Amino acid sequence: MTTASKPRIVVLGAGFGGLELTTLLSEALGDSIDVTLIDKGDAFVFGFSKLDVMFGHREPESVRLPYSHYAKPGVRLLKRTITGIDPERRRVTTDDGVFDADYLVVALGAEYDFNATPGLSGTTEFYSVPGAERLRGVLPTFTGGKALIGVCGAPYKCPPAPSECALMLHDYLVKRGVREACEITLVLPLGTPVPPSPETSRALMAAFAERNIDFVGGRRVASIDNDRNVATLDDGREMPFDLFLGVPKHRVPPVVLESGMSENGWIPVNPRTLETKYENVYAVGDGANTGTPKAGVFAEGAARAVASALIARLRESGDVVPYNGFGTCYIEFGAGRIGKVEVDFFSGPTPTGNYYEPSVDLRKDKEFFGSSRRARWFGLG
Ligand SMILES: Cc1cc2nc3c(=O)[nH]c(=O)nc-3n(C[C@H](O)[C@H](O)[C@H](O)COP(=O)(O)OP(=O)(O)OC[C@H]3O[C@@H](n4cnc5c(N)ncnc54)[C@H](O)[C@@H]3O)c2cc1C
Repeated sequence: MTTASKPRIVVLGAGFGGLELTTLLSEALGDSIDVTLIDKGDAFVFGFSKLDVMFGHREPESVRLPYSHYAKPGVRLLKRTITGIDPERRRVTTDDGVFDADYLVVALGAEYDFNATPGLSGTTEFYSVPGAERLRGVLPTFTGGKALIGVCGAPYKCPPAPSECALMLHDYLVKRGVREACEITLVLPLGTPVPPSPETSRALMAAFAERNIDFVGGRRVASIDNDRNVATLDDGREMPFDLFLGVPKHRVPPVVLESGMSENGWIPVNPRTLETKYENVYAVGDGANTGTPKAGVFAEGAARAVASALIARLRESGDVVPYNGFGTCYIEFGAGRIGKVEVDFFSGPTPTGNYYEPSVDLRKDKEFFGSSRRARWFGLG
């Protein structure tokens, strides 16, 4: 423990996991703790906002939630790029200072490994903010031909997102009066769109069939030839395209790789407690290998578990609530309708899912999902 009077908690990454964790710590412990939240960015952007920006439903500026709005007792949010993590000593090096922690939480998410897929950096992807903004400019020029939505590896963030992209692209092309001149194909490494919920997968497959969207499951894009505009799948099949909407292969950020914390690409943790093998070092969110999907709702659930452990520890009382591996995902089905799936990864011997049919009413639920977090984390109405 430190000689300073307040325990020092350092949280790396102000995304879904880091924002929720620090909010909970502040609510419970306020000024009695010393929490440092570090992120290299200026603003948080919801993953689903990338689809809205790409299809022109939202302006890029309007989806940014600036960190300048984040104000929580006991927490300071610093803009720094993390350049080194020493998990044994719980010491973090940044481009502006070194931070020592009594408790360290790594919530740095997943990044994209463009080099893992030859040719990918020469084409278009929609999983990063710059990628979605670029496609926003490219899409209006697409008036006919083959659109290929191609996932380059699993696991990837928000498993339903590529399916949502296909359905939203259909609507976008219909609205522009060019759908008849276009083909849409979705290549997914998963055998079905949402494996834990066969009902959701069936509904998505039916929606693809109704809209004449080709689904190639159990395959990934292995390389792209930008001279010929051809993607090659991992079984050698060649797929020509006129428009490519890629999902890059994911991995932990390089600083995590270099720290030695990751194994086989991800940080091993106890899935219930989020403890790493290093004393008083936790990992939550997309970078942690919990066996649950890489999605914001799951990052939040893991953050809740770590918050309860730290709060109980610091108060020397109270219950520790383990991570339950449960999450709710909203799925854009197009035509303004939203479906919902609740997935439970830990209760039974295999993951299960409850599916709710798409409706216009569920859009309000999805909007509340976003607005409640805007209010809770940033005090924005
Ligand atoms: C198209 C798309 C749609 C999605 N839709 C949904 C959805 O509907 N529902 C849902 O729940 N999830 C959705 N997601 C997934 C969701 O966005 C992520 O799973 C979630 O953000 C993960 O949270 P996290 O805290 O692990 O990491 P992140 O939110 O990615 O946060 C990590 C933070 O670490 C920071 N960072 C990384 N490296 C460094 C460094 N070296 N120094 C300083 N800071 C650093 C980053 O700047 C970032 O702010 C979607 C994702 C995409 C791409």
